[in-house]
Amino acid sequence: MKKINNIINGIMTLLFSMSLIQSVNAQEENLSLLHVQDQVYMLYGADVNITVQIGENSLVFVDSPDPAIIPAMMAMIREVSDRPVHYLITTHLDPLHVAGNEIIETLGDNSGVGIFRPDSSVAVGGASAGVTILSHENVLNRFYLTENDIPSLTITNTYYSKKKDFFENDEAIIVYHMPNAHTDGDSIVYFRNSDVISTGDIFTPGLYPDIDLELGGSINGLIDALNFILDLIVPGPFAEGGTYVVPGHGRIGDEIDVVEYRNMVYIVRNRIKNLMENGANLEDVLASDPTFDYDTEYGGVRGGPSNIEFIRSVYLSLQRDME
Ligand SMILES: [Zn+2]
Repeated sequence: MKKINNIINGIMTLLFSMSLIQSVNAQEENLSLLHVQDQVYMLYGADVNITVQIGENSLVFVDSPDPAIIPAMMAMIREVSDRPVHYLITTHLDPLHVAGNEIIETLGDNSGVGIFRPDSSVAVGGASAGVTILSHENVLNRFYLTENDIPSLTITNTYYSKKKDFFENDEAIIVYHMPNAHTDGDSIVYFRNSDVISTGDIFTPGLYPDIDLELGGSINGLIDALNFILDLIVPGPFAEGGTYVVPGHGRIGDEIDVVEYRNMVYIVRNRIKNLMENGANLEDVLASDPTFDYDTEYGGVRGGPSNIEFIRSVYLSLQRDME
């Protein structure tokens, strides 16, 4: 019996690794580097969206992808720029968003940048220099103190205040902490001259929000964060364009897209709150189907949380606030 189990395990492992290889290939085939606005680009087609500011001086990343696709990503970036990486901002603690941090750290001034630029004069190897990997301090706190499935995490600098700003590539880059939204360590990144906001998983068009209660997320914090993003956005003429928004997953948006998303979250929150104030428990709330008119647009058709997972997280978050 044990032998059969071993064989089955072997087959399962093989199938699993085959599916991993397939998913990496599929990701590579679907990758594209989209120009968002001015100096800011978005890598689209991986498990997560990666924002990259490409300037005279350096590259600035927001989140890092699966290490397996970094060579393909860098090859696309190298078609437009030969600059080293100076900053990587991690928007929150999530294996998908931090997977490539360790490799991105090696792409600074005196390091492995040559791996992707074989003809360059930049020395290969040596100590990693000049890559600041920044997150809110709660990202590191949660990594060490809360159960999670991330084997290792590379962060070199943290901030604990409401915001952290710096100047790179002739542009002010402002990192804002959004407390207790998707997690309690969320950052959004505002490229002020390019007029682009990278939101991490606070804004995920086409997907119900994933409120991670274990990592300190909350429905009311999420609504506050969406409203904060809307305050930063200045729409262009006829409400088109203006500030562009790069979500953690899904397509690039502008003000109307964020308004639509915020309204959905706000309306569902109010429906559930209202039911709870009238004595409904979780079963009653689920039975009343408070997301019925949004399910075709957001209800897990493109991945992300199901309607039931979303309703459940809103209920538990509100219940925690009421205690
Ligand atoms: Zn995500």
